[in-house]
Amino acid sequence: MRRKLAAGNWKMNGTGAALDALDAIATAHPAPTVDILICPPATLLSRASQAILGSAVTLGGQDCHAEASGAHTGDISAAMLADAGAGAVILGHSERRADHAETDAQVCAKTRAALEAGLIAVVCIGETLAEREAGQTLDVVCGQLAGSLPDGITGNQIVVAYEPVWAIGTGKVPTLEQIAEVHDALRGQLVGRYGAETGHGIRLLYGGSVKPGNAAEIFAVSNVDGALVGGASLSAADFSPIVTALE
Ligand code: PEP
Repeated sequence: MRRKLAAGNWKMNGTGAALDALDAIATAHPAPTVDILICPPATLLSRASQAILGSAVTLGGQDCHAEASGAHTGDISAAMLADAGAGAVILGHSERRADHAETDAQVCAKTRAALEAGLIAVVCIGETLAEREAGQTLDVVCGQLAGSLPDGITGNQIVVAYEPVWAIGTGKVPTLEQIAEVHDALRGQLVGRYGAETGHGIRLLYGGSVKPGNAAEIFAVSNVDGALVGGASLSAADFSPIVTALE
């Protein structure tokens, strides 16, 4: 049985004052029946880890380098994230794939590094609008999945987030049938590659304009085990009802 996961991606938002929102989220869900993960900017991780002490919320980074250490100015290793209080890391987000030209092979190397450091890797995949309109969605996301995940994983080490690029931050959401089609295909691919135990153990999140008003219907879709939430994770007033809808 996969435990559901509500994950928040704060992106490049938040200074110290944003920890109030984290505190409010933790306070609103003292004993959730689902997992709650918040990924603040790396600069906030240490303070955030103090703020959530004793709560049910876990923290994650938004990227890591594939190497454990070395001459990579400005980068952060998976071990550094873990040391700062993270239990997970988002990898291959479409904004990183676009802004930093990250390839599936690089995401795969980062995923290996994350697992090596004991982090859960939240690996993001998703098609552009042009790819969807060209009827290439399943080819694209299945190709990204194949290239971004390493061999030799277990189900609890990996979370896959399906995030159509055109749905991120736009208020546009695929139909429930479109979400189901992709999630069912991803599940089939994971079971085919890793076997039933691991393939059914990996959680599949939907991401892209999830809000309090559409969360419940999305969570009812086949093979949707939760959400990766951007904008609506920045305030407890928006994120908390999403958590509740998942419970
Ligand atoms: C995201 O950035 O992962 C995301 C899903 O953003 P939003 O919820 O704002 O669309």
